Amino acid sequence: MKKLQTDFDEVIAETTTLWIEFFFLKTGIKLNINDLTEYHHMAKCFGLTDHAVLKAWNSFYTERKTLGANLVDGCWEVLNWWVSKGNIVEILTSRPAFCQDEIAMYLKNKKLDFITTINCCNTFEKTGSRKKSEVFLETNSDFFVEDTFSNAVDVASCAPQSIVFLLDKTWNQSPIEHTNIIRVSSWYKIKEHLENYL
Ligand SMILES: [Mg+2]
Repeated sequence: MKKLQTDFDEVIAETTTLWIEFFFLKTGIKLNINDLTEYHHMAKCFGLTDHAVLKAWNSFYTERKTLGANLVDGCWEVLNWWVSKGNIVEILTSRPAFCQDEIAMYLKNKKLDFITTINCCNTFEKTGSRKKSEVFLETNSDFFVEDTFSNAVDVASCAPQSIVFLLDKTWNQSPIEHTNIIRVSSWYKIKEHLENYL
């Protein structure tokens, strides 16, 4: 039995394009997703302040806009296969803890509610934030699926026995130096790798 932690935004739910539409409705400012070259430096990429970006994400969360997001291609099929083999999957997200209910609702709507543990790291909160690597180690996990480059490096460095799958996106194109990070084009490619470990 192996345990896989998966990020939520852009790995399970396609939230970024929805957020960009939401940001336009709130501010009248049109953002281009192609300008996003580093996910955790969204403000810099879009020429905005950190405050403006965080405020908009928090409104996006509190207005429960995530519920309208499409599923990332392949995650449903591959995660169903993964648990059918007796393995475990949990969510490991940077989001604040108050998002847990909405994420659970989203998973239920998308028939992924066999995922019952949602680990929120509160990354952008002033207090109570944890690194993804801390939670990954605490939960004795084996695999991690992520789209944000810095989080992939954090987990790969702190858990050298783990395998980190970096889902290919325009914002994670830095060269990979860690031998335990595998860049993949889709969930279907992740399945091909996981089959070697069962
Ligand atoms: Mg993400």
